[in-house]
Amino acid sequence: MRKNIAEFIERNKAEILAFWETLVNMESASADKEGVDRTARFLEEHLRKLGAETRVAEFEKGGDGLVAVFGKDRPGKPVAFMGHFDTVFPKGAATARPFRIEDGKAYGPGVLDMKGGVVVLSSVARFLEESDFSDRPVVVVLAGDEETAHRYSSMGKVFSDEVRGCAAAFNFETGDRNSGLVVGRKGTAVFTLSVEGVSVHAGREPRKGRSAILEIAHKVIAIQALNENDEGMTYNVGTIEGGVVPNAVPDRAEIVVDVRYLSSSQLDVVSARMREIADTTYLDGTRTTLSRTVGIPPMEKTPENERLFEFVRRKALELGQPEPWAEFSGGGSDSAFSVSAGVPTLDQMGVRGEWNHSDREYALVDSLFERIALVAECVMDLERFAPHFE
Ligand SMILES: [Zn+2]
Repeated sequence: MRKNIAEFIERNKAEILAFWETLVNMESASADKEGVDRTARFLEEHLRKLGAETRVAEFEKGGDGLVAVFGKDRPGKPVAFMGHFDTVFPKGAATARPFRIEDGKAYGPGVLDMKGGVVVLSSVARFLEESDFSDRPVVVVLAGDEETAHRYSSMGKVFSDEVRGCAAAFNFETGDRNSGLVVGRKGTAVFTLSVEGVSVHAGREPRKGRSAILEIAHKVIAIQALNENDEGMTYNVGTIEGGVVPNAVPDRAEIVVDVRYLSSSQLDVVSARMREIADTTYLDGTRTTLSRTVGIPPMEKTPENERLFEFVRRKALELGQPEPWAEFSGGGSDSAFSVSAGVPTLDQMGVRGEWNHSDREYALVDSLFERIALVAECVMDLERFAPHFE
């Protein structure tokens, strides 16, 4: 028998909020592997008790991730729930600013980004289990090092491998204050340019010196000027350092540049432009080296993502919820991995709120229940989006 989600929420409200509180109060800074790993085990236990088969994706340096599968023998293509449980806040933040609710808003480190989303997805999974949902498996994949772009783990590959073949994926990242849902995101690449010059005493023979700072200043201007090509790519020289003392011509300077781009092919264009600027010498006698770290790849905006959005939009209206709209975001997320694995994906499905990554972060408490209802209804009716025999 199909159970009623509204009745489920009403009956379990206090318990769901208590779970949110427990989760927010667990220290899980991305850099605090011990805290993140403890949270992974806590969530593993929680999802296992709800009926999932679970496994922890262990990493030596990066925070552990988690995979949980409900109903793996069910017939339909699985649906994937994605997210992360690490936060940008340093160890100790949860003790200093524990979970609290005031005027319908919940506060605490990661309450919005995205422990609220973890509560939404685990509540939906619980509801489906209690309703004897039998259409398709539900695959939950959660990272413990999303906020550091999986720098020390292969969690990106875990996402791709686990969600490949799914009918649809919902990423429970930080929801918009209003009702925007994300169908595409830019990718991020980070470039470091280091300039070597020639150091001499600033007073005695300054003309014999070669200022690394002067050389890098030209390069900063050249890089920032790339923003004038309006092709959706953005360049930001985010940090600069160099020199040692005021009375010497500096022989060293370095900048780190954050670049956002729309598609994998644009990464080649971006890299070529950065290479050209690195190789252009404005001040003879200086030498520049360039290195690139690829961050999270773009979540490409596919027609299938838009079709999934349309399905969810209609469902929201049927439920009498505010009408969502489709957004393209400049910030990366793990949806990049599900889209590149060929899975229609909708992102920003978590609780709604504002100011993530800051102490002002808050989440709208009612939106937690709103999203639980929306996702539960979408999953129960997913046959309409992805028929068994297509
Ligand atoms: Zn997040």
